[in-house]
Amino acid sequence: MTSRYDLTRDDLVALLGGEPGYRVDQVWAGLYTQAAGPDEVTSLPKALRQRLAALPELASALQPAAESVSDGGDTVKWLWSLDDGIQVETVLMHYRDRSTVCVSTQAGCAMACGFCATGQAGFDRHLTTGEIVEQVMRAVAAARPRRLSNVVFMGMGEPLANYDRVWPAVVRLHGEAGFSARHLTLSTVGIIPGIRRLATESLPVNLAVSLHAANDELRDELVPINRRYPLGDLVAACRAYLDAKGRRLSFEWALIHGVNDRAGDARELAAIARPLGAHVNLIPLNPTPGYAVMGTPAPGVRQFRQWLVDLGVNATVRRNRGTDIDAACGQLRATVAGQTPVRLLPTH
Ligand code: SAH
Repeated sequence: MTSRYDLTRDDLVALLGGEPGYRVDQVWAGLYTQAAGPDEVTSLPKALRQRLAALPELASALQPAAESVSDGGDTVKWLWSLDDGIQVETVLMHYRDRSTVCVSTQAGCAMACGFCATGQAGFDRHLTTGEIVEQVMRAVAAARPRRLSNVVFMGMGEPLANYDRVWPAVVRLHGEAGFSARHLTLSTVGIIPGIRRLATESLPVNLAVSLHAANDELRDELVPINRRYPLGDLVAACRAYLDAKGRRLSFEWALIHGVNDRAGDARELAAIARPLGAHVNLIPLNPTPGYAVMGTPAPGVRQFRQWLVDLGVNATVRRNRGTDIDAACGQLRATVAGQTPVRLLPTH
């Protein structure tokens, strides 16, 4: 359960033993500025490259199990096998003006949101800092010649339930791989102690909160952790984060047909979002095997957005990327397990 990206610089110094300092710099720069393993850093002598390539500490943690491409090449999704056989997903999305990677922070998830494919499957384990960083660096390499500018921690798992590994990944991406804090977004189901802790960090990353319901009765049902961290407290924690960081807050809202897409839902949402100046991301629910409810059809999505806008809330509809390749929300792993055809790569 280690990745070459789990090493600190001091670990690398120790690992390279008697090599001069500039060799350490070359390997480190290979990892973080070229997104390359030591065997690919051509400025290193061949013998050293071979020696480093054989070290387990410098191995890659992610073996591709499946890769799928959609949207004319603009969405690429990987299913990785980790060295204990567990699988996680990463999605790279190219837009006109930027490229974004969506990374997993846990294998599985313990939050048990009924509509989410990952939540339905349960929790396997936390990912290590290196396993998280390596997903980003794989995407950096794959995005070329485009520059990967944004990272969203919105893949499998709950980032704030794995704080001690996720935050060092954020720091590493910022300090070593050159991502600016405003291009890093943590998405949470609403783990209040995590949000409060985030407010004490020096890096002002973006915070996205998966709201989906704006009253406790409905949210208790859709997002079970709401019973522990109810809306009033969650809103107070969001306010504290805003006050501390001055970053724009966003709310995620998966539109579920007949459940949270009515005028009354828009009014309740606006009552929370407007005072916070929060941006609302609307996304029609992706159907998942374990949840027999549909996403809101397109006209209803437009209508819901209009209600919000009329109530003074900034809201956008997020186009669903890669639904045809199950790139949405933990679905590739579920699909592979269920034998729906995707292009499987040979394992190595
Ligand atoms: N645990 C974190 C991050 C991972 S989930 C969180 O909850 O924010 C990323 C986003 O996808 C969340 O907003 C989640 O609610 C949403 N999501 C999960 N399953 C979905 C589905 N079937 N359709 C639409 N959005 C979904």
